[in-house]
Amino acid sequence: MDEEPDDRTVPGTATWTAGPDYAALLATAEAVLDDVDRALARLDQGTYGTCEVCGAVIDEDRLVVGPTTRTCGAHPAPTGEPDAG
Ligand SMILES: [Zn+2]
Repeated sequence: MDEEPDDRTVPGTATWTAGPDYAALLATAEAVLDDVDRALARLDQGTYGTCEVCGAVIDEDRLVVGPTTRTCGAHPAPTGEPDAG
C-alpha cells in the first residue's frame, strides 16, 4: 500500500473561524466525559447499575441504552443536558 499524505488538519494548527459552536461542542464532550468518569468510579465502588437517588437496581435495558445512566426509571434523567449540580 502506498502511503498517502495525511491532509487532515492537525489540532492546534488551524485557525478556527466562525462556524460550529465549538464551545458548546466542547461543553457537551466534557459533560459526556464527566458521566463516563462517574460511571467508572461507580464500577470501582461496586455501585454501578444502582440508582443514585433511591438505590434501586437500574434496568439492564436502560444501561444498554445509556451506560452512564445514574438513576432508575422512576426519576426523570434528561440526557444530553448539562447537570445542574
Ligand atoms: Zn431510583
